[in-house]
Order: sequence, then structure tokens, then C-alpha cells
Amino acid sequence: MLKINNLSKSYGKKQVLRNLSFHINAGEIYGLLGANGAGKTTTINIICNLLKTDEGEVRINNQSVSAATQKLIGIATQDNLLYETLSCEENLKFFADIYGFEQKSLQKQVRETLAAVNLLDSAKSPVETLSGGMKRRLNIAVALVHKPQLVILDEPTTGLDVESKYEIWELIRQLKNQGITVLMTTHLLDEAERLCQRMGILKNGQIVAEGSLAQLRTLIPAQEIVVVQTQETEQAIARATKYGYNYRYYGHDLAFLLPEPLELKEIISQFEGIAIDSIARQPVRLEHIYLELTQP
Ligand code: ATP
Repeated sequence: MLKINNLSKSYGKKQVLRNLSFHINAGEIYGLLGANGAGKTTTINIICNLLKTDEGEVRINNQSVSAATQKLIGIATQDNLLYETLSCEENLKFFADIYGFEQKSLQKQVRETLAAVNLLDSAKSPVETLSGGMKRRLNIAVALVHKPQLVILDEPTTGLDVESKYEIWELIRQLKNQGITVLMTTHLLDEAERLCQRMGILKNGQIVAEGSLAQLRTLIPAQEIVVVQTQETEQAIARATKYGYNYRYYGHDLAFLLPEPLELKEIISQFEGIAIDSIARQPVRLEHIYLELTQP
């Protein structure tokens, strides 16, 4: 549905994208992951025809990016793009108008879109009276109102409380159920893990790893993570090294990468003689994979 071929982009002397290539299949949720400044927004702006690439090409449904392909895309930007004094309905009408939606079906489409994001009851409320979660849903509605085939969500849940975040997750799942293709960026790796069928990890302007969670798991030499709490860290690390385990610090947590899963009692016996406060086995999560693949 979307093909990105060898994009390169510099701002002045600073090269941000380097032969960036990836594709998104129709109907999937694809997560573009990367640290601050990795080039995600730059990539999105090129896809949306808001920024010209220096080299390479973006194809949407096999057409080069143009004013025509812009209509196939809906974008919900990182910061809400809403008129605070206008109502939800007025905001959607305004944006639908820009996309040239036919006047006679406009009202119906606006109502349907408000219903899809669960804001029909607030149709007449000015944006400035809405909660942060409602504003975020309206911002996504703006991306949906012209019935795009590809929806781009830039950090869709940043800054939201847990319940509002779950509502947005549900909304994203509904988009997929309707056959809409979704490209999303997020710094929340549990969000990507739960929602995205495939993910691409962007580093230094290139995709350094791509695939489903199961495919990404095969890229690192660990099948299980063991987090150990102990005052005797040096002894624990020395012991783990003897068994061939690499160690990492995840924040303050000392963790060992196990190449094969082991029974808990077996792991406990391997640390015998060391004062251990707790040992916890964890599956390999996207967070672990991401750190392995992005850290120098
Ligand atoms: P974030 O997660 O913080 O949104 P990002 O992955 O979206 O980051 P971009 O916004 O694409 O990253 O920015 C990539 C790099 O390009 C950053 O170092 C940024 O400072 C720089 N940059 C972005 N836009 C411009 C611009 N208009 N002029 C100069 N430099 C820019």
C-alpha cells in the first residue's frame, strides 16, 4: 500500500534520512519506532507531501506522492491541530471542506466520524471545554473525516492518562477492523507491541530492524530475561558470566539475557551462595529488543 524507496533527506549539512526504505501492507498497523530526532516526523512529512525528499521516492497505491495521494492519507499530528473555540462538529466540517468533501454528504460523514471516535454527545461542545483524551480523539477524527485509506498517527497517546490511552488503542484496533492501513509512531514500546503487526526501528535515518514481534525476537541472542535484585552485583555478574549470560542494566534493574529459557529453580541454583533478594523471569519484550538494536 505504501512503499518508501531509498529516501535521503538533509536539513542543511545535517543528514536525517539515509536511503530509508520500508513498505506497509494494506490493512496492517505498522509502527515506526526510533529515538527523538531519529527522523520519524521527517519521514511522515515526506509521505504526506508536506516536505520534499532530496532523493528516493514514496509510492502510495503505486502512485508517486502528489496532491492526489494526499487525499488517500489522513494525519493526526503529534500536537493536536484543532480550533479551540470551534465545536467538535465545526472542526470536522472545516477539515472535511479542505479535502473537498461533497456538501450534501458532509453532515452525515461528520456525524459518523464523531460517532466512530465516541464524541457524538459532544458534537456541539467547543474544543476548549474537552478533556485531553477527548481532544486527542477529535484530532484523530480530523484524520478520518475524509475517509482516507492510510491513517498516520504521530504519537497518538503521548501525555494521556491510562483510560484515555486504552480508548485510543481501541479506536486504532477499530480502524484496522475497517480495513484502514495505519502508520503510527510511538515511544511507548508496550503500545507498539500490543497494536502493531509489524514494526520498523529507525536509527540514524535507516531501518535497522523490521518485522513482527516474533521476527524481531529472533534478532537478539536471548529467549528470556532474568532480573536479579542483589547487593552483591559483582558476584552475580561474575556467576552469570560463568554460565555464558550477558548482562544489562534496564534503568536500575540488573538483568541477564538467557539464550534458552530455564526453570526458576535451576536459575536460583545457579546463583547459590550469593545473597539474592529476588529473581524474576520475564519474556523478551520489545523494550529489550529495541535497546539491543539501538544502543551503541
Ligand atoms: P521526535 O521523536 O522527537 O518527534 P523524530 O524522529 O520525529 O523525533 P524529526 O522531527 O524527523 O525526528 O527530526 C530529525 C532531525 O532533524 C532532528 O535532529 C531535528 O532536530 C532535525 N530537524 C527536523 N526538522 C528540521 C528543520 N526544519 N530544520 C532543521 N533541522 C530539522
